[in-house]
Amino acid sequence: MKVLVGLGSCGIAAGGRKVLESINESVAKNGLDIIVEPTGCVGMCFHEPLVDIIDGDKKYTYGHVNAEIANKIVESHLVNGKPLTEYLIYTNDEPDVFVKNQLKVALENCGQINPENINDYLEVGGYKALEKVLTSMKQEEVIEEMKISGLRGRGGAGFPTWFKWDAALKSKGTEKYVVCNADEGDPGAFMDRSVLEGDPHKLIEGMIICGFAMGSNHGVIYCRAEYPLAIKRLNIAIEQATEKNYLGENILGTGFSFDLRIKMGAGAFVCGEETALIESLEGKRGMPRLKPPFPAQSGYWRKPTNINNVETFANVSWIISHGPEKFAAIGTEKSKGTKVFALSGKIKLGGLAEVPMGMTLREVIFGIGGGIKGDKKFKAVQLGGPSGGCLPESLLDTPVTYEDLSKTGAIVGSGGMVVMDETTCIVDVTKFFLEFTCNESCGKCTYCRVGTKRMLQILEKITEGNGTMEDLDELEALALSVKDASLCGLGQTAPNPVLTSLKYFRDEYIAHIVDKK
Ligand code: SF4
Repeated sequence: MKVLVGLGSCGIAAGGRKVLESINESVAKNGLDIIVEPTGCVGMCFHEPLVDIIDGDKKYTYGHVNAEIANKIVESHLVNGKPLTEYLIYTNDEPDVFVKNQLKVALENCGQINPENINDYLEVGGYKALEKVLTSMKQEEVIEEMKISGLRGRGGAGFPTWFKWDAALKSKGTEKYVVCNADEGDPGAFMDRSVLEGDPHKLIEGMIICGFAMGSNHGVIYCRAEYPLAIKRLNIAIEQATEKNYLGENILGTGFSFDLRIKMGAGAFVCGEETALIESLEGKRGMPRLKPPFPAQSGYWRKPTNINNVETFANVSWIISHGPEKFAAIGTEKSKGTKVFALSGKIKLGGLAEVPMGMTLREVIFGIGGGIKGDKKFKAVQLGGPSGGCLPESLLDTPVTYEDLSKTGAIVGSGGMVVMDETTCIVDVTKFFLEFTCNESCGKCTYCRVGTKRMLQILEKITEGNGTMEDLDELEALALSVKDASLCGLGQTAPNPVLTSLKYFRDEYIAHIVDKK
């Protein structure tokens, strides 16, 4: 029998550490021979602190546990064999609605294993994909499997992963780099943090496989310093993987070597853009470079570099282990596999959900997220954070795919889904996102630096009740210019919340102007 206590950032914030302490004390007091371990976030942040009791094939999940309840669970369930139904959320025989409609690939181990113990990862088949790659595959074969899988970058742009790996492989030079973008900075996004805190070895394994495929012996994880728990667990994982010879010299006796280090970022949103990230890695101010050359030709220290985000790397070992065809069979023709979304805002069940691509927004928000808090009316969902768009109820049946969302003016983005109810003012929300991108603009190009500022001034004027109809025209014209003329993704996508809210919620802007408030 095993007990797992949710100690991701969400679990800790809700009091998970005290729960773990209480269970440990109670188990010791009763002389029980039971393993009690921390685990990462299983996605149900709304039920934290969570405790799982695993008894053979049966799993019992308790929610909203505190130290006192934890003690009762031990007495009733572990000592007397009677599950404490009062606090039981579900069992694996009868899964909760939030759980049963999901499909876990990138998050398959999050909330299931102890992220600080490599043996837990090995027990669920960890590092088997790496072993397979290093002992029986050629570099081109690994890239071909990525191509067949259809995996696209999960950081926002959705670029085919195989193409970037192939370009880096074909670039001349013996020194190449694999970089993981763990600089998750969108308001409302916490998908990558969950992998980093809950299953760090999965990321490491994906990065080593990428290193082998493109001919690189060096990896760097660029992780925001605001993720201290993620950094701590990554450091432990790197140390343990090195001890077991999955990292370092002559991995598993195959002759392939790969070293990995962490670089902490100071939390600039623009460093999510790959060339700005490279500048920051080199110790400079994070400002995007002109492209071409692309990082695959000239990246970190002007050497061929491949950058993927955490979730992208977290899919790699699954693809190798289960076969690329199995991954490609999930999702739609052009958007394959699953996508992790961070559900937040006015949604009943806020947390992390991993779903097959192609599921509709309605199915995610109502089917998994349980609908709107207080049973209020749904008004809009902001997808992809400040780079994304604001979609109304009439578009709730849009499938979550790269192509379908881009038709609406929104993007899949990195996976933030902020839900708004009938009481939310869309113009205020748009102003919030624009204020964020305006503050985060690195200032290199005029359209982004001055354009976002001017758009923000207009939004302030409108929300203060001083706007005119001409302001709306100027706002729209400016948004289109900033989108067209900015150098990097930050500026090119910053107008998305303005453009989509003007398209779908223009009446709210007009109401501010007409009612003068
Ligand atoms: Fe910097 Fe904005 Fe220009 Fe990007 S678009 S380079 S963030 S000023």
